[in-house]
Amino acid sequence: MDAALAEDKLATDGEQHLATMDEVDAQNAVGNDSLQDTVLQSMDEVDAQNAVGNDSLQDTVLQSATAAERCQASMVLGGVGDAMGYRGGNWEFCASTSKILRDLDELTSGRGIAALDCSNWMVSDDTVEHLATAEGLARGLAAPVSIDAIMCSVARETKKTANDFTARAPGKTEQRGIKLIDVDGRNWRSKPFDSGAVGCGAAMRTACIGLIFRDEEHLENLVAIAIETSRLTKTHPTGYLGGVCAAAFTAFAMQRIPVQMWGRLFLERVLPACAAYVLQEGQRHIRENQEALSQGAFESKWRWYLRERGLHEDGPAAPSFPSEYGAAKRDVFYSQISQLSPLNPSGKNPGSKGYDSVLIAYDALLWVETQLGPGCTDTERWAELCHRAVLHRGDNDSTGSIAASWYGALHGLQGVPLRHHRGVEYRGRCDAVGLALDRAFRHIGSRHLAAPLQLLADR
Ligand SMILES: [Mg+2]
Repeated sequence: MDAALAEDKLATDGEQHLATMDEVDAQNAVGNDSLQDTVLQSMDEVDAQNAVGNDSLQDTVLQSATAAERCQASMVLGGVGDAMGYRGGNWEFCASTSKILRDLDELTSGRGIAALDCSNWMVSDDTVEHLATAEGLARGLAAPVSIDAIMCSVARETKKTANDFTARAPGKTEQRGIKLIDVDGRNWRSKPFDSGAVGCGAAMRTACIGLIFRDEEHLENLVAIAIETSRLTKTHPTGYLGGVCAAAFTAFAMQRIPVQMWGRLFLERVLPACAAYVLQEGQRHIRENQEALSQGAFESKWRWYLRERGLHEDGPAAPSFPSEYGAAKRDVFYSQISQLSPLNPSGKNPGSKGYDSVLIAYDALLWVETQLGPGCTDTERWAELCHRAVLHRGDNDSTGSIAASWYGALHGLQGVPLRHHRGVEYRGRCDAVGLALDRAFRHIGSRHLAAPLQLLADR
């Protein structure tokens, strides 16, 4: 992307943010509840914070990130991981990690990833859709929480993303799914079962669901909202389970559950809740889901991964990584993660599917969280995450966006250079909606978020 286009994109960022606020105003005018006031208030505060620069925010999080700052950082860093991996279309699906690293060397005059300036870098479809999920959630939440209100709102925002896909390389299944959604979002259940809907298009836009349904007792609601948000486009379990995983791991990060426990918790608690949800009476595509879940592609890949890392036994164990785990070895392992017969027997384009996007993101974060000594600085930790989750061949904007969202939920902006996040496209929207989701969480209350969501009969 050339510089002029980048500047245009930043200019429209501001305009679209204002347009978004107008829509929230309109909702207030027709009598929406006080939550919308809260959302508006928090977004105004974030705007004011941005106007005076982000240095004070950075100083604060370096001491100890609050839950609100971690929500903001999760949204912002999701955008950073995406923009960095996409690099205006130059690095996404680049066939060679060595080429990406040579480019990085040139861009930073050999100073490395921490010196990379992402000012004016555009985000790809991943962040446009992730923002739609987050803004849809923020506007669709009210107490008592209703699945239909949330999903109409998320679907409505997701529908709008089609107007903002130019030069962002959206996936075909995503576009086809979004086309089916009506402008008002009320037909959010309309996507038929699609055995080809297995890509990472759900996983790349659902991490933020774990910022709202963040407590242990919210798991069933997190599963329901993550599945339905994912099924706007990805109705096969290999696709939508990636979306549930991305959301659940953000919630685990907010709960400060040790990262090495996340995979097993997913298998033991989250997957059974997913099966219970999609197979319950009144659900759609029950026969197709039964068949796909019994084949168990997503689950068996996770079980394989946890065995590879020595995390399959009972009790929290330290993961085992190769003693030398550089870029070349990671390329080989990421391909192994992606290999799945008959879907992807050769392991091409690592990270592009529902299962390998979250597995590669998790492998990157797991290494950073468990293999670096106490003498390592936060900046070095973030840099390592960028190398492992972003600077690799394949669908690196998606793996980068997912891993960075989880990192933000864990650590806020700790260790992230200002030049990585200050000027990235849609920075203001990410900040605002992250804070709005935290405010909504506090306003509604954990108990209301845990109340069972009503399941609608098929329409
Ligand atoms: Mg993308």
